[in-house]
Amino acid sequence: MEIRFSPEEEAFRAEAREWLATNIPQTVRPESADLRARRDWDMAWQRRMYDAGWAGISWPREFGGRGATLMEQLIWYEEYARAGAPDVNTGFVGLKHAGPTLIACGTEEQKRYHLPRILRGDVVWCQGFSEPNAGSDLAALQTRAEIDGDHLVVTGQKIWTSFAQIAQFQELLVRTDPEAPKHKGITWVICPMGLPGMEIREIRTMAGSSDFCEVFYDEVRIPRANIVGALNDGWNVAMSTLSFERGTAFLSEQVRLTRLVDQLIEMARHTPLGAGTALADDEVGRRLALLRAEVEALRAMTYRSVSRTARTGVPSAEASLIRLFFSELQQRVFALAMEILGPEILAWDADGAPSRVTPEHAGAASWVSHHLTAFSSTIAAGSKDIQRNIIGDRILGLPR
Ligand SMILES: Cc1cc2nc3c(=O)[nH]c(=O)nc-3n(C[C@H](O)[C@H](O)[C@H](O)COP(=O)(O)OP(=O)(O)OC[C@H]3O[C@@H](n4cnc5c(N)ncnc54)[C@H](O)[C@@H]3O)c2cc1C
Repeated sequence: MEIRFSPEEEAFRAEAREWLATNIPQTVRPESADLRARRDWDMAWQRRMYDAGWAGISWPREFGGRGATLMEQLIWYEEYARAGAPDVNTGFVGLKHAGPTLIACGTEEQKRYHLPRILRGDVVWCQGFSEPNAGSDLAALQTRAEIDGDHLVVTGQKIWTSFAQIAQFQELLVRTDPEAPKHKGITWVICPMGLPGMEIREIRTMAGSSDFCEVFYDEVRIPRANIVGALNDGWNVAMSTLSFERGTAFLSEQVRLTRLVDQLIEMARHTPLGAGTALADDEVGRRLALLRAEVEALRAMTYRSVSRTARTGVPSAEASLIRLFFSELQQRVFALAMEILGPEILAWDADGAPSRVTPEHAGAASWVSHHLTAFSSTIAAGSKDIQRNIIGDRILGLPR
C-alpha cells in the first residue's frame, strides 16, 4: 500500500472541505413515506453540486463530471462524509450504476442525452435486474424481449426495484435469446418508466418504508435504439455495472460509518445504565472500542484497495472483502445501539415512530431506522454468501 497525498491533493481537500462546509443542506431530508418529497430534496442537492462543479466526481469532464483522479475521489468521499453531507439515496442508480455503465458501454447519443440529465439531478433511475427466481443467480432471469422491427417487446416481472415509483428511467435486463446459454442471451436496455403495459406495485418493508417495488411488463414496447452495448451481450454490460457497485460506490458510506460509531460512543456517554452510564460499563466499553478499531481497519482496507486500483487500473476482488466486512460491521454497530437504548426502543407507536423517545433518547428514531435498514445490507448488491464465494474463489483460490 502506498498512500501519500501530494500538495495538489491537499489543496483539493481544502477546497472540497470549504465548499462542503458552506453548502451542505441546512434542512433535513424528508424521510417520510412521501418518496416524491425525498426525491425532490435529493435532486435539489444534486443540482447544487452540479452548478458548483462537484457532481460526477469521477465522471469525464466532457459529460459534465469533474474527472477527478482516484485519490481525489477518495479525498472527496472522505470530506463528504466528514461534513455530514447527504447520502446519494434516490440518486443511487443513476449516479452509481446507469451513468457509469453508459460511460463504459453507451453510444455517443445515449451518453449525450442521459449523462447530463443524471448529473444535473433532472431524472431518477431505477434498476430492473432481480426477478422472483433470479437474484443471486441473476443470469437465470426470464423477463423476455422479442424483436419487432425497431422495437423490443418486453413481457415478464422484476422485483425489489428500488424507487421504481419515482423513476423516469430503468436499467433493464431482458432475455433476448432463450436458446443461448443463460449468460449469453441477455440484453441491457434503457426503459423509460410509465410506458403502456407497465405496472408498478409497492412493497412495504419492516422499516416502514416502501422504497421497493414489483414491476410487471405486458408487451411493453421499447425502441431498439435503447439497447446499451450489443444485443445479447447484456451480461457483460451488467457486470461492468456491478463492479462499480462493489467498488468505489460505497466509499462515502464507509466513512459515514466511522462518524456513526463516534456518535454511538457519545450516546453511550449520556445513556444511563445501572448506577452509571452505558459507556462506563466494561462490556459496552469493550465492544465500542472494538467497533472503533474495526472502522479504522475498514478504512485501511479501503486505502489499500484504492492504492492498488490506482496502480493497476483494475478494480480488484478485494472490493468484495471490503463490502462484506462493511455490511456485517454496520449491522454490529446498529445492534449495539439497540442494546444500549434497550429493547423497548423497538416498540413503534401508531404513527410509525419509536414510542419511547424521551429527551435522553432524542435521535433514537434514526438509530432504530438504521438498525432495521441494516438487515438488508448483507443482501443488496450481492448477498454476504455470494461475497464469500467470490473471496474464496478469486482471492483465496479455493476449489469450487
Ligand atoms: C435494500 C435492497 C435494495 C435492492 N434494490 C434492488 C434494485 O433496485 N434492483 C434490483 O434488481 N434488485 C434489487 N435488490 C435485490 C438484490 O439484488 C437481491 O435481493 C440479491 O441479489 C439476492 O437475491 P434474492 O433476494 O433473490 O435471494 P436468493 O438469491 O434467493 O438468495 C437466498 C439466500 O440463499 C443464499 N444463496 C444464494 N445463492 C447462493 C450460492 N451460490 N452460494 C451460497 N449461498 C447462496 C443467499 O446468500 C441468500 O442467503 C435489492 C435488495 C435489497 C436488499
